[in-house]
Amino acid sequence: MPWYYVYSPLSGYCTSRISNQTYCSGGPHAITGGSGFKLPLDLVISSPGVQRLDFWGSSNIGSIRTTRRSNMCIVSPGTPWNDAVDVEMFTGPNASGSYIGTVRFGHIDSPIQNNIYNSLNGQYIGWTPGECTCRPCACYDCYTARHVHMEIRQSVTPPAGQGYNTGLDGCSNPWAYYSSTWVYELYLP
Ligand SMILES: [Zn+2]
Repeated sequence: MPWYYVYSPLSGYCTSRISNQTYCSGGPHAITGGSGFKLPLDLVISSPGVQRLDFWGSSNIGSIRTTRRSNMCIVSPGTPWNDAVDVEMFTGPNASGSYIGTVRFGHIDSPIQNNIYNSLNGQYIGWTPGECTCRPCACYDCYTARHVHMEIRQSVTPPAGQGYNTGLDGCSNPWAYYSSTWVYELYLP
């Protein structure tokens, strides 16, 4: 039963309850990727300015396929808050083998072009927005700090209590470190 991991695209702190899909400030945390997506979280950057986001996954992921989306909010607040990159993961090169799942990175400035990458770690995804607040939109409650939103669709539903890093779950603002803290786990039988 191989396990696959997605690591943090930046160094920052988590400000959401992943397990019950709510904001720490209250209210449901929007899930925007469509059918099968779940476990939303926000990783907030602590330093001024913008932050580059890179993909990092476990070495048993063979390739990724990136797709730009513009559906982060129901009513568009415009670029970049409405933009996302979906990263599909496969066991083999060139998007071959088994489909592992898709991780969505939301609120992406200057997103990566649509393509397939066999050299996936450290792969540029985009940048966090430069402004501090999300413009008013219908995605319930855009968080009031510069952040990346992540959510995932797992090809196979993981056993109860697995599938995400429970250490990031909650409102004590736990840290996730660039490329080293795992965020999501996926498996294939
Ligand atoms: Zn979010």
